[in-house]
Amino acid sequence: MIVQPTEEQLDRAAQLIRSGALVAFPTETVYGLGANALDEEAVARVYAAKSRPWASPLIVHVSDAAMARSITVEWPPVAATLAERFWPGPLTMVLKKAPVIPALVTAGLDTVGIRIPAHPIALELIRRAGVPVAAPSANRFSQLSPTTAEHVQQALGEEVELILDGGPAQVGIESTVVSLWRHPPVILRPGMISQTDLEAVTGMRWEREVDLPKIVESPGMHPRHYAPRTPFYLLEPGAEKPPGRGRVIEMPSDPQAFAARLYSELHRADEEGWEWIAVTKPPDTPEWAGIIDRLRRASAPEN
Ligand code: AMP
Ligand code: MG
Repeated sequence: MIVQPTEEQLDRAAQLIRSGALVAFPTETVYGLGANALDEEAVARVYAAKSRPWASPLIVHVSDAAMARSITVEWPPVAATLAERFWPGPLTMVLKKAPVIPALVTAGLDTVGIRIPAHPIALELIRRAGVPVAAPSANRFSQLSPTTAEHVQQALGEEVELILDGGPAQVGIESTVVSLWRHPPVILRPGMISQTDLEAVTGMRWEREVDLPKIVESPGMHPRHYAPRTPFYLLEPGAEKPPGRGRVIEMPSDPQAFAARLYSELHRADEEGWEWIAVTKPPDTPEWAGIIDRLRRASAPEN
């Protein structure tokens, strides 16, 4: 059920989280499906609701840096620097996990992905619940991520008791994920905080983990992900369109506006009954890297 985030509904949502139930909530990236990250049974419900493979770790959402540190055993200077500059915001830091975090949250890894979301409703929910909230995107595994409460209702309406409505997500694609326990640190998943941003703030060179075996370091990064049901193509600029009745979705030329609209455009086009849908490939520059990554996964073959 979609509800407005009134005082009463926020209290109810926090109570549901504390009691082991699932609550869908808005963040600035996409809507999340949240559970108490300290409660293994609650976390198991998240995997079941999404039909998500257990080998795919969940991001733990916290309301402040102290809560972040309470679920890690190591807080290197680079984590402090990045938290100071980018939190709350769309940056997930992978650090060595504390024993309070059940193995199920991290798919058995001894590291945990953490972030503070930049959304007042998400922050209020976590604060009131008083526990870290494990939350993947509130969709079925490998399908399009939700950027509105209605998207969540369509995908998981049966599975989740409460969907807090926060309007359309402002960033629109999933967070940048960085691994900080490794030396040197690496970008595991690109997002709207770019390699250039990370380099400017840390004064060091950052690499993207592209050629290393993903299975080991970032088990959730399947080639096909974030995908509409309609066959989806990523077209080179000026390339010929595929045959049949299809639609090339017009997108903004600015990366922030492009990301903010991407999933809602794909959701809508997916409902329109085309034989194919497509997006023209944006420039291959660092600010577009997160968007190009999602477009590639959305257009990857089934296997
Ligand atoms: P989602 O919540 O669906 O946006 O996906 C979260 C993604 O974050 C996972 O699929 C992983 O790629 C990444 N992630 C989360 N926790 C870890 C971790 N401990 N180690 C490496 N990658 C992680
Ligand atoms: Mg997801």
